[in-house]
Amino acid sequence: EKQQGVALVIGVTGIVGNCLAEILPLSDTPGGPWKVYGVARRPKPDWSPDSPVEYIQCDVLDREQTLEKISPLKDVTHLFWVVWVNRETEEENCEDNGRMLSNVLDALLPNAENLQHICLQTGGKHYFSLFDAVAKNQNYQPHEAPFHEELPRLPVPNFYYTLEDIVFEAAKKKEGLTWSVHRPAYIFGFSPGSLMNVLGTLCVYAAICKHEGLPFRYPGNITSWEQFMDASDAELIAEQEIWAATDPYAKNQAFNCANGDVYKWKHLWRILAEKFDLEPLPYDGDGFSLAEVMKDKGPVWDAIVNENKLHPTKIKEVGNWWFADSMLNPPWGAVLSMNKSKEYGFFGFRNTETSMGQWVDKIRSSNIVP
Ligand code: NDP
Repeated sequence: EKQQGVALVIGVTGIVGNCLAEILPLSDTPGGPWKVYGVARRPKPDWSPDSPVEYIQCDVLDREQTLEKISPLKDVTHLFWVVWVNRETEEENCEDNGRMLSNVLDALLPNAENLQHICLQTGGKHYFSLFDAVAKNQNYQPHEAPFHEELPRLPVPNFYYTLEDIVFEAAKKKEGLTWSVHRPAYIFGFSPGSLMNVLGTLCVYAAICKHEGLPFRYPGNITSWEQFMDASDAELIAEQEIWAATDPYAKNQAFNCANGDVYKWKHLWRILAEKFDLEPLPYDGDGFSLAEVMKDKGPVWDAIVNENKLHPTKIKEVGNWWFADSMLNPPWGAVLSMNKSKEYGFFGFRNTETSMGQWVDKIRSSNIVP
């Protein structure tokens, strides 16, 4: 008889949460077919109306609410942590993200007797902390790329470290409970409810340029334009997480998760421009801030949504300008090593250019951009 996993996905409408929600219930998914509980704060979105996911609206930062709504889920076997909240300082990030995870584990550990595994998604910032911190010349040396999983932690607060420590403690408390940590690069995927969706953000920028007849200028610096970078397809991350959740050799390990190739933005920019029927301009040497240039475009976006009968969104939901500014203005080119993941038996990969084109198509066919 096929063992059936019961997944609890915290952050089910996010950029990777969406993919877990789609893949886990499929009949040929390892460990499945899975029963899936999915949690987020906002009401169930209507972009996947037929999803078999049991949707639970809950703010996991709220302890009472979390104990009330998560404790009854006694059949959960696997926890997928694909959620975060963003605060002003990293100390606050540690505090609030840590509290969210502790709340959920305090609801699960005494009740979900068959809880076997925790998939914790963090990211490449594990190795360099924040670009801003580097730019502000704080007192530490980021690691040198390519980053591999066994590099020591940096001597700065990082909420990823806080989350890892909470998971390690939980595993000590419950016999047989295993974990895996997943560290993606910049994620290409679909979610109008994500805090960091660089591709969705650039699609909104492109749609605004098209609508207003503006030149589609590249906002980033020469480093991101010219240097090798890597990205992580959201579906690939979901696949790696499910692999680690079900493969006995992948337990209690951290894994980078990138597409396995490198790209330059100068090439991706051309593809993006073509998708929106815009002229792919060469680099003009004048990097600028999208946050600055887009700050008054709310009414323009409303008009675009209206005219094209798009899924109703506000510009601040779908235009994560601060994130695009940060990602496209790195102080150096950086890539994640995928050796360990392959050595342990995960061979998934994506062609980044193809992946980008497919996600742009998905964002458009889901009626988020014209
Ligand atoms: P997203 O921002 O795409 O999605 C977050 C999800 O969590 C949404 O479903 C959101 O829905 C939900 N959520 C947020 N706050 C709460 C809460 N208090 N209670 C319940 N649900 C909540 O997540 P990501 O996949 O981007 O982020 C997961 C991890 O991946 C983070 O650590 C991030 O740093 C890391 N990462 C992300 C990258 C990226 O490019 N996006 C790159 C590398 C790493 P709602 O708002 O409705 O609650």
